[in-house]
Amino acid sequence: MIHTIDALVVGAGGAGLYAALELSKRGVPVAVLSKMYPTRSHTGTAQGGICAALGNLEEDHWEWHMFDTIKGGDYLVDQDAAEILAREAITTIYELEHMGLPFNRTPDGRLDQRFFGGHTRPDPQDPAKRIPVHRACYAADRTGHMILQTLYQQCIKHAVNFYNEFHVLDLIVKDGVCAGVVAVEVRTGELHRFHAKAVLFATGGFGKIFSVTSNAHSLTGDGVAIAYRRGVPMMDMEFFQFHPTGIYQKGILLSEAARSEGAYLVNGKGERFMERYAPQLKELAPRDMISRSIVQEIRAGRGGDGKDYVFLDVRHLGKAVIDAKLPDIMDFVRVYMSRDPLTDLIPIEPTAHYAMGGIPTDNDARVILDSQRTPLHGFYAAGECACVSVHGANRLGTNSLVDILVFGRRAGIDMARYCADRDGVGWTELPAHPEDDTRGAITRIVNGQGGENAGNIRKQMQTEMTQKCGVFRGKDDLRSARDTISELKERYDRLSIQDKSKGFNTDLLEAMELGWLLDIAETTVLGALAREESRGGHAREDFPKRDDAHWLKHTLAYHTEDGVVLQYKPVTITTYEPQERKY
Ligand SMILES: Cc1cc2nc3c(=O)[nH]c(=O)nc-3n(C[C@H](O)[C@H](O)[C@H](O)COP(=O)(O)OP(=O)(O)OC[C@H]3O[C@@H](n4cnc5c(N)ncnc54)[C@H](O)[C@@H]3O)c2cc1C
Repeated sequence: MIHTIDALVVGAGGAGLYAALELSKRGVPVAVLSKMYPTRSHTGTAQGGICAALGNLEEDHWEWHMFDTIKGGDYLVDQDAAEILAREAITTIYELEHMGLPFNRTPDGRLDQRFFGGHTRPDPQDPAKRIPVHRACYAADRTGHMILQTLYQQCIKHAVNFYNEFHVLDLIVKDGVCAGVVAVEVRTGELHRFHAKAVLFATGGFGKIFSVTSNAHSLTGDGVAIAYRRGVPMMDMEFFQFHPTGIYQKGILLSEAARSEGAYLVNGKGERFMERYAPQLKELAPRDMISRSIVQEIRAGRGGDGKDYVFLDVRHLGKAVIDAKLPDIMDFVRVYMSRDPLTDLIPIEPTAHYAMGGIPTDNDARVILDSQRTPLHGFYAAGECACVSVHGANRLGTNSLVDILVFGRRAGIDMARYCADRDGVGWTELPAHPEDDTRGAITRIVNGQGGENAGNIRKQMQTEMTQKCGVFRGKDDLRSARDTISELKERYDRLSIQDKSKGFNTDLLEAMELGWLLDIAETTVLGALAREESRGGHAREDFPKRDDAHWLKHTLAYHTEDGVVLQYKPVTITTYEPQERKY
């Protein structure tokens, strides 16, 4: 079936919905395609908060937020983008409030704010020192749920078209201009062609390359890999965030909000070990540092119960605080661990959480192809699948929800401008048979006789990535992971699936997703192997120092016939020269 619509948004998380809303408000015909029902998007699981320098509890300024973001990202952040993030965070929060989002409030009725790792202000007693600042707005520990529901309601109100359970499988590009997408309708298995003037990918992250992750089953990097196969590079893939407090062995997230409210991290000897690693901010240091500290404690034999975990301790917070501010995550502890957080210590370990890298874009979410910032006309990306880059080498907690909304909105606004400009030029013609490549890929998988099983390949890839491309990395491990991934890619070509039916063929769709995950795992490992320094979330044991002389640059990984080719792109520095990163 063929559809023609001015603006297409792929993904119904926070980034996609905000963009769709802006387009619709500007009178542009827009459709949102989502492989899941929109309110099941991962944005709905975000717990702790969304930050903006409102200064509701004490003095705060967007410049301080910008500085924290840049320092938190270990100076790999593009500073012009960080300025936009910090400034527009403030208007974004007020817009959400006006849409009716039920934020927690202070007793006198202002939006309440909580601490979060790496968000600071100068100490009034000693301005050279920085202390935590209340910057994160929140709705208990269900902030993302409230954002997603609010935006979805607004989209319905503004008559946005939704194609739910439409799984996008390809991007249509003709003569350097993006002209639409190919999607399969999950219910029927029918292929649909969407012809558009402008396309936004807002397809979320790809934590499913790892075995221990906080990410939903659906986070398989579709958008990033589909664009990559159409010539768009993947940017900064070696920077993946490991969140310090995942439920041991399950990876389910226990939000940093627990530590914001005063929870401790303790080792097997009962010590608050963060005092040694980040004497000023302790448990509120950035995530990359805490995850490394946890691994170091475990390696030094100070794990909890002599095992490979440490503890989150919330016992002293008391029932009232837990019930009011951390209800959901404490339920997770009861349900998934059979422990009572009021009386028991909670075993935790770092869990793969957030992709700093993704599809390269400019500050209006336009996809760019190289260090000269050549655009792929009509193609946009926003949210976790994009790399603007506001998070650099390590994202601060609560900065993603801001990122998806600020840049989702900017995408919607610029797409509306672009669609209006195209009115003079006419629609980009489609190539002769835009579905052919997709149909070919589906036929190969459905008819595959090689006997390889997608589940086995996926499991092996995830284990390899967690073991060899995790919190700490080294040359030998990365080389071995590279060889394993290339072997798994060969096995992938010999895949067979059992389900040959058309409708609801999840075997087939998971096999497609596995193909994308393998591309993503490959560029992650190759980027990590090439980058011989330690910066933010990328910690090389053989190169423990940051090396600005050689590596203050972004990585761009290209898909070519001869395999992955790496190029580099300079970092935009406007205000803050790189300094040593101490907390
Ligand atoms: C457990 C958890 C807690 C978090 N807590 C916080 C927090 O407190 N604060 C914070 O700032 N950040 C938090 N984050 C990070 C943040 O929630 C995410 O980075 C952000 O929500 C991503 O939003 P998004 O709009 O980019 O994508 P998502 O919300 O992930 O949505 C992706 C959308 O793309 C669609 N899609 C994907 N592939 C296809 C395809 N091929 N075809 C069609 N549709 C497709 C999906 O259906 C979905 O609608 C958390 C993340 C997790 C996992």
